[in-house]
Amino acid sequence: MQANTFHFDNSYARALPDFYAPVQPAQVPQPALVQLNHALAAELGLDGAALDSPEGAAIFAGNTVPLGAQPLAQAYAGHQFGGYSPQLGDGRALLLGEVIDVLGARRDIALKGSGRTPFSRGGDGKAALGPVLREYVMGEAMHALGIPTTRALAAVTTGEKVRREGAPPGAVLARVAASHIRVGTFQFVAAQGDAAKVQQLVDYVIARHYPEAHDAANPALALFQAVCERQAALIARWMCVGFIHGVMNTDNMTLSGETIDYGPCAFMDAYDPATVFSSIDTQGRYAYANQPGIARWNLARLAECLLPLVDADSDRAVALVTEVLDVFPARYQQHWLDGMRRKLGLTTVQDDDLALVNDFLALLEAQAVDFTLAFRGLADGSSRALFSAPADFDAWAARWQARQPALSKQVNQANPVYIPRNHQVEAALEAAVRHADYAPFQRLLAVLQRPFDTQADAAAYALPATTEQAAGYQTFCGT
Ligand code: AMP
Ligand code: MG
Repeated sequence: MQANTFHFDNSYARALPDFYAPVQPAQVPQPALVQLNHALAAELGLDGAALDSPEGAAIFAGNTVPLGAQPLAQAYAGHQFGGYSPQLGDGRALLLGEVIDVLGARRDIALKGSGRTPFSRGGDGKAALGPVLREYVMGEAMHALGIPTTRALAAVTTGEKVRREGAPPGAVLARVAASHIRVGTFQFVAAQGDAAKVQQLVDYVIARHYPEAHDAANPALALFQAVCERQAALIARWMCVGFIHGVMNTDNMTLSGETIDYGPCAFMDAYDPATVFSSIDTQGRYAYANQPGIARWNLARLAECLLPLVDADSDRAVALVTEVLDVFPARYQQHWLDGMRRKLGLTTVQDDDLALVNDFLALLEAQAVDFTLAFRGLADGSSRALFSAPADFDAWAARWQARQPALSKQVNQANPVYIPRNHQVEAALEAAVRHADYAPFQRLLAVLQRPFDTQADAAAYALPATTEQAAGYQTFCGT
């Protein structure tokens, strides 16, 4: 097999000609591979060894367009921080094409940072190395935690500096997704007022992601219900690991149910539902605790796009989607409580489970205890030492013990010891960007690949930042 043998099968390009612009990636001076995801390459049926080469670097930088690729920039709209933008689209990304992976699933391979497109507006279409590596490590960490996500196939530097503060190295991320179709894709199409086009997109998404909806009495409604269910499950998974996406705009929410667009995202340290890291989220719209509500809000925007297909009678269409939206909080709560039961090792369902969970979280909040360590330490009894007033913990732990929680091995499988700690991520990115030293990044990535297993010499990766390190920590959009 050769580096440029991908066996593309480009269904989006074929089926949805009105929803993209063909583009070619920009040529860059000096492509160099920083990281290649061999495990993912194998999953995609690609030849990782062949791609781990100058030819591979040229492909992932956009200099060589592999055989059968059909590069295109997808059109989408979206609500950003609640305000509607009619035309966003891939301004610095392109879809190279789709491959069928070894399990038979269709996967997009896209480049991010690959140059200007018709949707770039004022932007340069480029990406800086820091944000590219940040997306790489966050996505892989989420994947290893078992959370649906887009993933990094490769990161390359381009040999140019990008126009950002400090003139950082330019980079391109090769990203793999179940698809890149977003709530904003529907908004873009629906805004054109042509129900037949929305139908085209509905048919495509059903065929690709929700084939069971095809035979439903009301396929558009069945699709909507299925998307709501996947998002309820996804957000619950985020909440159970303390993940804060940071920019849950409708263009950053997939129809597939994968996490997408790791910009200002970060994991919470001390448990505080109001936690916000993103520098631009001044109102805390996308704070930790707001995520389920925002997901529902985004899904309501999706519902608006689907109304004409749900029922010809608009009142009836509204009633039908509202019914689905109204059960979203309960569906989310169910997924979340199931997740929390696993974290506490509760193997039976009891009426006071919710109180047991909430009382634990209230203790964490009151005593500013690290969310990840507090759960992880339940199995071996090390949680207690994290509490400044351990008597409160003891009282709670007695109730918890009375429930005869599962064996520690099982509880540990639900509570990671390693998450991408903010200070570790920053240190790894800084070494890469400032000194082209990728060792800290690679080490961090390796540790995060096995988040549930205590690893030798990795104790530092389990620890939260010191108070000084954590003070005022902010993340920035990866533009
Ligand atoms: P994001 O913050 O990545 O979700 O991007 C929001 C929108 O801004 C998308 O339409 C992006 O394609 C666009 N965008 C972000 N950065 C750039 C850039 N450097 N050049 C062109 N478009 C960009
Ligand atoms: Mg985005």
